[in-house]
Amino acid sequence: MKHDSVVIHGRTVELHTCTTVVVGSGASAFCAANRLAEFGHDDVMMLTEGLTSGTSRNTGSDKQTYYKLTMCGKVPDSVEDMARTLFDGGCMDGDLALCEAAHSARCFYYLCEAGVPFPQNSFGEFPGYQTDHDHHLRATSAGPLTSKMMTERLQERALRAGIPILDRCQVISLLVKDGRCLGVLALSKKDNRYLVVNATNVIYATGGPAGIYAESVYPSSQSGATGIALAAGAIAKNLTEWQYGIASVGFRWNLSGTYQQVLPRYISTDQDLNDEREFLEDHFTDPGKLLDNTFLKGYQWPFDPRKVADDGSSMIDLLVYRERMEKQRRVFIDFTRNPRSLGDLPDFSKLGEESYRYLKNSGALFGTPVERLAHMNPKAIELYKSHGIDLHGQYLEISVCAQHNNGGLAANHFWESNISHLFPIGEVNGTHGVYRPGGSALNSGQVGALRAARYIVRHYSEKPQDDHAFLEAVSTQIRREMEIGDRYLEKHGEGMDIGQLRKRLGTVMSRYGAHIRSKEHVKAARSELASITSDLEERVVLRNDHELPAVFKMRDHLVTARVLIEAIDDYIAKGGGSRGSYLILDEKMNGSHEPVDLSGQIQEMVCTDGEIRTMWRAVRPIPERNLWFEHILKEYDSHDR
Ligand SMILES: Cc1cc2nc3c(=O)[nH]c(=O)nc-3n(C[C@H](O)[C@H](O)[C@H](O)COP(=O)(O)OP(=O)(O)OC[C@H]3O[C@@H](n4cnc5c(N)ncnc54)[C@H](O)[C@@H]3O)c2cc1C
Repeated sequence: MKHDSVVIHGRTVELHTCTTVVVGSGASAFCAANRLAEFGHDDVMMLTEGLTSGTSRNTGSDKQTYYKLTMCGKVPDSVEDMARTLFDGGCMDGDLALCEAAHSARCFYYLCEAGVPFPQNSFGEFPGYQTDHDHHLRATSAGPLTSKMMTERLQERALRAGIPILDRCQVISLLVKDGRCLGVLALSKKDNRYLVVNATNVIYATGGPAGIYAESVYPSSQSGATGIALAAGAIAKNLTEWQYGIASVGFRWNLSGTYQQVLPRYISTDQDLNDEREFLEDHFTDPGKLLDNTFLKGYQWPFDPRKVADDGSSMIDLLVYRERMEKQRRVFIDFTRNPRSLGDLPDFSKLGEESYRYLKNSGALFGTPVERLAHMNPKAIELYKSHGIDLHGQYLEISVCAQHNNGGLAANHFWESNISHLFPIGEVNGTHGVYRPGGSALNSGQVGALRAARYIVRHYSEKPQDDHAFLEAVSTQIRREMEIGDRYLEKHGEGMDIGQLRKRLGTVMSRYGAHIRSKEHVKAARSELASITSDLEERVVLRNDHELPAVFKMRDHLVTARVLIEAIDDYIAKGGGSRGSYLILDEKMNGSHEPVDLSGQIQEMVCTDGEIRTMWRAVRPIPERNLWFEHILKEYDSHDR
């Protein structure tokens, strides 16, 4: 590893040279850096825009889930079965499903060894529970903050291994020449200095492109960098596939599990908090149905169009969206009083059998929602209290929020993208398709990290090219980025604020490119995005130089947003209907119920010279393998693995 400074286009720039640079500092990034170091590949450094930023470190849920092979009891499980479950989610490549299943035990034990306290019995079995989109008991959890613990334990390991970390450095461009990634260009968030990394390999662990949405349950420190990779020519796949669900928007947290099962009141107000109404009643005229659907939201958390069609639990998400987006009202959950359908003196006989039995078995057929919550899950109240919100007296403002991108950058089964030596891992990599079992995102990040590290060690461990040749190859690209930066640094004074523009982008995407989609929405989004792009070019003015990184972020987000909107348009044009976590509305703004089944095909998107292209291909099946031990033994050394 070498650290130097060079003059590029008349400006002193830090130049770092290493075999592999890992971008990001979430659970997948730390895992990749550790794996490399442990495999003896010690010329590795990490670079992140925020050491403690990102989704893994700053998010959680009622019982944050990790998905793995069954490791206890009598119920049989197998790699093939687990791969099949992942694959059956639709639009997931079989080779990736197989890798995620085959490596899940190894990656899970690695986390246990690192000190993540997954519960086990005194005989060493790790019991599991059933998660969404699965029929096994493969899910486990270290509590509400599983991914935070993973990140912290893995970071400790990286520090012990002495892996250098460049903090507060935002990657603004991938340096690519002739289809090969040669390194990254970054901007220091401390002082706007440019940094260049000359590396044989880039492991790209920048997380989901959260920054494109205003209504989001991602932590605010996570914005993502998918657009930079798209702009560099990386292919994206299944970009349309996301998860959205009801969350509180002040303190961002999923309102799943007990938060719904205690039957809170959903209300909306005008922008000034007047005209309070229990708006769900307008749609659900049967009080029992309203209460049962609220209850079901607890474990049917993500928006699912199949649960809209028959007036099911996802109808609530749709009604929340209409209040906020169409009627421009504010929406809250109130735990202090019972919904009118239940009554001030609650009449639980209105509930259906499932919800009634659950509350009865929990000894919770009494009182107000917050009293039931205190009885059933007091930690759920403490959690909000620790963020300054008292559910005994305050309403929670809510929305339907983006939570996870199942799609993302495309890669092969060693997590290498179409740009050679670029390895997107973790959420930025779109390994999943339409549905995925809860917890599989965290497994995927760990597996991708291991796969990329092994491949690099075996095939790509040569030192990078010499700095002179490197700079010659990438200097035009670096100059282009610097010129963009200079243009903004010259613009000070009166003008449009970058923060406001970013909010506008988020609102457009939440309104037109989230869980409610249509041709009309695509049209509106396209025109808004064009106007935002021109405002960014022409009208934005920096209030101070510290805003420069935000300009590059905005450029990144605009690329992602534009590609996503084109992907949605193309999907609708191909006859694709509601699926996963989004509803496609027809010309009359009704849900489409007879879609063309596209779950066996994968949509890929690529940008070339600013033009966005779409491609479709068949899903790769789960590979047939020869698993005869003697055969594997003989072939082992010649296999990629
Ligand atoms: C509320 C919520 C609940 C969830 N619950 C679950 C669950 O129960 N089970 C599950 O499996 N998954 C869950 N997920 C998803 C899962 O948490 C994420 O997919 C996963 O943590 C992503 O990890 P990562 O390492 O890929 O990225 P992140 O942890 O997001 O890290 C990304 C890193 O990249 C850095 N970065 C980004 N852009 C740049 C740039 N331009 N330059 C330099 N650095 C950059 C960031 O600072 C950050 O360090 C949940 C997500 C949310 C939001």
